[in-house]
Amino acid sequence: MALLQILAYPDPRLRKIAAPVAAVTPEIQRLIRDMAETMYAAPGIGLAAVQVAVPRRLVVIDLQDPEEEGGDPVKRPFVFINPEIVERSAARKVYNEGCLSIPDQYAEIERPDRVRARWIDEQGARREGEFDGLMSVCLQHEIDHLDGILFIDHLSRLKRDMVVRKVVKARRERGQAAIL
Ligand code: ZN
Repeated sequence: MALLQILAYPDPRLRKIAAPVAAVTPEIQRLIRDMAETMYAAPGIGLAAVQVAVPRRLVVIDLQDPEEEGGDPVKRPFVFINPEIVERSAARKVYNEGCLSIPDQYAEIERPDRVRARWIDEQGARREGEFDGLMSVCLQHEIDHLDGILFIDHLSRLKRDMVVRKVVKARRERGQAAIL
């Protein structure tokens, strides 16, 4: 297994629309393992292949909270291949979101509370399920990545500009720290 480099905003590759995964090949299975390892090491609770510069419709999620996941304490990621949201609740909910590609920035984002999704699992089987709470937020956030959408795109222009300014400032400070 290998740790993959996570692209950081404003890398233009984060804006690519990912292509469907044609088949669950050994290469895709290796990518899934590497993405999971990268997500756990970051640490994060979700990662889209787009974020590691692979423009394919593939997402790994692990909330790392046995209660949220129905009591399963095993360290094993949910794998969503070619995920699609087929139903969204009218009810919406606000969560404080962050993103591994936009380090240290958080913002309150409103999304549909519950979603029904279809996807293919790591064995190549078709799956369908309904999600709420953090799992719903995370899946919607990761599927956005597959379409080149970042969580800050859901903010008003004013709030988005504030986050972008903070990202630019943080990058500049990191740059200076490296020089010193
Ligand atoms: Zn993200």
